[in-house]
Amino acid sequence: MHSILIVDDQKGVRRLLEEVFKKDGWEVSTAVDGTEAVTLAIQHEPDIILMDMKMPNMNGLEASQKIIEKNPRLSIIMMTAYGEMEVVRAALDSGVKKCVTKPFDIIYLREMVTDLVQEQAS
Ligand SMILES: [Mg+2]
Repeated sequence: MHSILIVDDQKGVRRLLEEVFKKDGWEVSTAVDGTEAVTLAIQHEPDIILMDMKMPNMNGLEASQKIIEKNPRLSIIMMTAYGEMEVVRAALDSGVKKCVTKPFDIIYLREMVTDLVQEQAS
């Protein structure tokens, strides 16, 4: 079973993504901010981390950088707002695997996550 860590400060987004990936058979954990994300990512080593950018305490970019610094093999997909090109560039430069713009198309996001986890396996 593949595992995914969903990080978003918005309860509605966490709930939606949790439901979708659980239905697809993923083992799902969630975090509400960057600080919790770093802790859970290092503890659980999920196959995929779906990381919101804008969050209180620690934003998604900073959290991703900390996670990659501690475990460069972890795969992160970051969710950014439309037009945040500099954030996207900084994220990819830091080792984030992919970025997706919010509001996302859930079917597209599922495909992206599935592709990434299959890439890892091959
Ligand atoms: Mg947010």
